[in-house]
Amino acid sequence: MLNEFTAFMPAKIHFGAGAINKLKTEKLPGKKALVVISAGTSMRKFGYLDKLTGILGEVGIPYELYDKILPNPIKEHVMEGAALAKKTGCDMVVALGGGSTIDSGKAIAVMATNPGDYWDYISGGTGKGEPVPNKPLPVIAITTTAGTGTEADPWTVITNGEEKIGFGYEGTFPTISIVDPELMTSVPKNMTAYQGFDALFHSTEGFIASIANPLSEAMSIKAIELIGKWLPVAVNEPDNIEAREYVAYANTIAGFVETYSCCTSEHSIAHAISGIYPKVPHGAALISISVSYYEAFLGHIDDLLAKMAQALGVNISGMSESEAAKSFIDALKELKVKCGVDKLCLTDFGVDPNKAEYIAQNAYDTMGGLFDLDRKQLSMEETTDIIKKAM
Ligand SMILES: [Zn+2]
Repeated sequence: MLNEFTAFMPAKIHFGAGAINKLKTEKLPGKKALVVISAGTSMRKFGYLDKLTGILGEVGIPYELYDKILPNPIKEHVMEGAALAKKTGCDMVVALGGGSTIDSGKAIAVMATNPGDYWDYISGGTGKGEPVPNKPLPVIAITTTAGTGTEADPWTVITNGEEKIGFGYEGTFPTISIVDPELMTSVPKNMTAYQGFDALFHSTEGFIASIANPLSEAMSIKAIELIGKWLPVAVNEPDNIEAREYVAYANTIAGFVETYSCCTSEHSIAHAISGIYPKVPHGAALISISVSYYEAFLGHIDDLLAKMAQALGVNISGMSESEAAKSFIDALKELKVKCGVDKLCLTDFGVDPNKAEYIAQNAYDTMGGLFDLDRKQLSMEETTDIIKKAM
């Protein structure tokens, strides 16, 4: 039986090497841009900011710059960016960078047109879960990494104190997204791996989520296949544009998976880790917990794990279903080796091993909803154990 589904993805996506130049001919959704970039140096160093502002100049769009976004982006910067947009009369947001920048751009777009505090609209943790009264500013998302899929989904994940919580609805899709693999060749090896695994887990979680449907499943399997094949190449040959293209494409369709299906509790746990320990990159949190996370589902969703093993290139013919399911765990470990992240663990980033239960509780309190999408309910003990094994 097929799960019923509704498909809605209103972002216009320009994909391909050089796609940023499409902004020269595209009808832009505003007259003045708030350009949002990270506090890091790469957007300036690699000339991406100049490229963007050059294009804006060519098409006669003035802009203001907000350049403070952190790798695990925080609410204070959302509020500050929104205040700048309001003060300077920006009527669209152009976010240039990785997932944290684009997510922040979306959240800034919400707060630029709405009253109160961003956490008024967040569900989970101390968020008030109020409806957003006004339409956010339009967002142009230009992704320079292949990791979050945020260019093809409505989600934005922001941290407030120790609460790192995802938010999104029909109004928070980008209006226009640019996925240009030429802007990704400068991503360093470890970040390429972290981001690529993030895209992998959007696909695998979307595949095992209870709300998966034929559309999301097809995209999940394709993304898993492409990441299994091309991520090690992109990690080990950063200038290989073909590998960058395939990983970028896999990441974008993994974004569709997040839109049409959803992540599961693996993301709740990873967000809790980075919420409490902002130095843990999102992808690194996921990589660290991934083996123990999927092991917890062995014997419960073996048919699905077997299909994902096949997508990672395992020949499962002749195997029993439980053997095939276990082969997914082995294939995951092997992919980690190929990408040089097999030794990664949470203590590398200063996570206190005694905090496993505290992290698990945070995951339930902030993004408990994703646990409901697991096909097997994880107990508090099991969740704590997954985190402990990642230390
Ligand atoms: Zn993610």
